[in-house]
Amino acid sequence: MKSDIYDRAKDSKEMVFPGTRLAVTEEFVCGSGTYSTENYIFASVTGHVVINLEHHEISVMPKAKMTPVPKVGDIFIGGVVNLSRQMATISVGVINNVAIYPTYTLVLHVSQVSREYIETADEVLRYGDAVRGKILDAKTIPLQGSLIGSQLGVIFAFCSLCGTRLNKIGRDKLKCPECSNIEKRKTTIDYGSGDLAFKL
Ligand SMILES: [Zn+2]
Repeated sequence: MKSDIYDRAKDSKEMVFPGTRLAVTEEFVCGSGTYSTENYIFASVTGHVVINLEHHEISVMPKAKMTPVPKVGDIFIGGVVNLSRQMATISVGVINNVAIYPTYTLVLHVSQVSREYIETADEVLRYGDAVRGKILDAKTIPLQGSLIGSQLGVIFAFCSLCGTRLNKIGRDKLKCPECSNIEKRKTTIDYGSGDLAFKL
């Protein structure tokens, strides 16, 4: 986990998205552009990581040129910031391949997470997953979206046990290269390609 943090510190040009895991709360405090759950600090905006070693503070400098008004059918990228049985809340940091700031909050109803029947949203989504989805309703606050479609879903995710980035080994099956933990997600067809842009 440590090497993960120091790699990021060295490569501050790397862009992160809302929901990207940045550090453990034992070692760093949240700066601007971040939020924390019990153990981890996540990015809440799209931007570059900034680490202040003196104050053990980790922040994300937003990288945004404009904030487009979301429309029905727009493609977004965001991080999972909350999960309940019926709903996943996404902090949207990219719309139609453009980084936006401030972020929009979007909800995915469980029926819009997967074409297959799932009982609860957390069966195929976890905190910190980066997802690509489509906006279904842009007039509501929060926005409403969908992950249904082969190009929509989780584009990368981290191991719930050790925090390593998971590899795809089956349609909706991910495996941790470190601890061999296997997890289920509703993944995109190009999961893990590192290509965050959306092409049809
Ligand atoms: Zn693991």
